[in-house]
Amino acid sequence: MKSSKVEAAINQQINEELASAHTYLAMAGVADRLGLPGFCNWFKMQYREELAHADKFFNFLLERDGEVQLAAIPKPEVKNPTPLGLFEDALAHEQHVSECIFKLKDLARAESDHATDVFLEWFITEQVEEEANTRAVIDQLRMVEGNKNGLFLIDRELAGRQPESGE
Ligand code: MG
Repeated sequence: MKSSKVEAAINQQINEELASAHTYLAMAGVADRLGLPGFCNWFKMQYREELAHADKFFNFLLERDGEVQLAAIPKPEVKNPTPLGLFEDALAHEQHVSECIFKLKDLARAESDHATDVFLEWFITEQVEEEANTRAVIDQLRMVEGNKNGLFLIDRELAGRQPESGE
């Protein structure tokens, strides 16, 4: 790659995406244990999306003649195993990932790496969507405030989430 700093940062981002996938898979497991199969489905779809993000960065590195260097993925911790806690933590996580992408974009610009700069635009748009989708579920969960009937309906809605086309 043109810039070894950008190459290292993309490798780090691959790790961030894989760590995200790992966290969402752990959350899917917790959701199932809470008796919420729809929540479990939503987090599994999210897990698959994160794997697809890691794959996009991986393929981009190869296209740019970069070297892939994978690192260890930390053990995921589900700190708040409640329906609302899972989504609040997911939103905080997505905000963290957005910050990582913004920093990566700043670096690409500083290094005059125009190809990476343009490549990252897709991820910035994607992060806006990820945060909005997660926030929408938080809003619904706050509206029902733990009411079981409301939770049942939200779970049914989340059960309908399908894999993204082009994944
Ligand atoms: Mg991602």
